[in-house]
Amino acid sequence: MNKIAKQTISEINKLITDKNNIVIIMHYNSDGDALGSALGLYHYLIKRNKIVTIISPNEYAECYNWMPGSDKIIHYSTNKNTGIKLINSSELIFFLDFNNLSRTENMEEVLSNSTAKKILIDHHPNPGDIANIIISDTSVSSTAELIYTVLEAIDDNITIDKTIAECIYTGIMTDTGCFTYNSSQPYTFYVVSKLLEKKINKDQIYENLYNNFSGSRMQLYGYCLHKKMEIIPEYHTAFISLTKKELQDFNFKNGDTEGFVNLPLSIKDIKFSAIFIENDEQIKISFRSTGNFPTNIFSSKNFNGGGHKNASGGYSKLTLSETINLFKSLLPKYKTELSDEY
Ligand code: 5GP
Ligand code: MN
Repeated sequence: MNKIAKQTISEINKLITDKNNIVIIMHYNSDGDALGSALGLYHYLIKRNKIVTIISPNEYAECYNWMPGSDKIIHYSTNKNTGIKLINSSELIFFLDFNNLSRTENMEEVLSNSTAKKILIDHHPNPGDIANIIISDTSVSSTAELIYTVLEAIDDNITIDKTIAECIYTGIMTDTGCFTYNSSQPYTFYVVSKLLEKKINKDQIYENLYNNFSGSRMQLYGYCLHKKMEIIPEYHTAFISLTKKELQDFNFKNGDTEGFVNLPLSIKDIKFSAIFIENDEQIKISFRSTGNFPTNIFSSKNFNGGGHKNASGGYSKLTLSETINLFKSLLPKYKTELSDEY
């Protein structure tokens, strides 16, 4: 990673020193990195005697409920008035793990009207001009890794304790697919080694996150693979789609489909995968690739989205079948990029 300038660290430190009411914002459908970064920072700021609240735009997957402090998180979708009050009375706001206010969906307006000082810490490309201080580094594994770097660099007497370490580790582990991608920089493992020194139980964290499916979620997983996956060998592509009705049939809860988009990539020669999920407003789409295919460019050009090269998302306002037809019709244009040799 590129070292964060000393000047930036001291500006952040000064803002934290000067401001008391602090709010931390995560992106819509918060994932392990958003939660790990937010909760790691939260526990640190509590140690600095700040009044801190994390706000999540909507409900996130239940598998994160074990995380220390997660019970204190305000869900904007169900506590809008509390969220608005907190934002309007905050003096300092952190934006973590997103690069644009549109990623907070329903909170975009209230956040853009806020007069608080803002600090953005993120690893997605092309951050918007939405904060007074921006730390944006696409070379790192995760936002949580950046949080570690910032906390380690701040010159105060606060140590990164076991609780903070557990949160940061969760962010790094989940955003690297348990160290299977985005994790080839030695620095990531330096950070992990420092976290392990705090005596975190990494195996228990894995257990909490990945071995906790509900029965119906496990059945949905099987159903997706058996009945709903389409493989298009010519374009090294495979995708899964789910209708609202199918989700209801499997007693869908937010987060239940997390990770499903990666499954087709386990098929030999499949380099590009997608999942299309129908909800009340739109078709939510996730894209993944292995190798060089830039899913974020594909997504921003065709599906109103963006993200990282190998992991991105977007949406479509067409019907599910129209969306899938559009997706399939686009593939020939990308034949070269999706080819073996590319
Ligand atoms: P996921 O597929 O897990 O929801 O998202 C993977 C990545 O894609 C996220 O880290 C995020 O950066 C990006 N992403 C997902 N959905 C959207 C979207 O609708 N718009 C943009 N710009 N990025 C998205
Ligand atoms: Mn992330």
